[in-house]
Amino acid sequence: MHGGLFPYASSFYMDSKRRINTTMRSMILDSLEIELTTKCTLACPGCSRVNTKHLKEEWDKGHLPLDLVLDTIRNTNFKSYLLIGCYGDSIYYPHFWEVMKVLVEEGKDWMVHTNGSSRSRDWWLQSYDIKFKNHRSNKFYFAIDGLEDTNHNYRINSKWKTIETALDVMTNHPNRPKLYWRWLDFAYNRHQQDEARKFAESMDIEFEIYESFRIKDQYKHDNPEIFTA
Ligand code: SF4
Repeated sequence: MHGGLFPYASSFYMDSKRRINTTMRSMILDSLEIELTTKCTLACPGCSRVNTKHLKEEWDKGHLPLDLVLDTIRNTNFKSYLLIGCYGDSIYYPHFWEVMKVLVEEGKDWMVHTNGSSRSRDWWLQSYDIKFKNHRSNKFYFAIDGLEDTNHNYRINSKWKTIETALDVMTNHPNRPKLYWRWLDFAYNRHQQDEARKFAESMDIEFEIYESFRIKDQYKHDNPEIFTA
């Protein structure tokens, strides 16, 4: 079972097995996905927030109330709590580190996915108040699909310097969580995979390559200009 708590839905929903198997190889069964916010600074071409722009009034519901999020974490017992997001990225939730702190204090297992962009060093440094466990049941994923000259091809509007800052702060965290670099394989970034892997390994970050389930096949191997047009 995989449930969800979203700003744009008032009830839990059960995801189908097929979707879990085909879209999230790392999805944990009996987990609760909490979409903290429908805010994001990026405009990835495969994202629901881009593809359903015309329905923005329906899904752009802002931030979940903090009380609801904390009560849910404290009073439920899911195997893992997923801060991933379909329409928003959890780091743009104003109380992101408060939520992380409670997850850690409550001894819950969790997984975060973020593009890692556009937050300041001071913002990332707030994480230093949290004693993470460096353990596989606590996964902090950075979704970075290229290097300085290419990441923005798909991760439109991403700001490389701020991503470097995020990696630097989290890598040097005194009680760092398990860090992952989640790389979507595209024609435009394939030649940089080895370099990115070495960069990740130099920071003791696990590097994982995925195929995008959101982008149709014809985009994956075409001229990379398609993402910069
Ligand atoms: S970073 Fe995530 S939420 Fe933001 S536009 Fe890209 S896929 Fe969508």
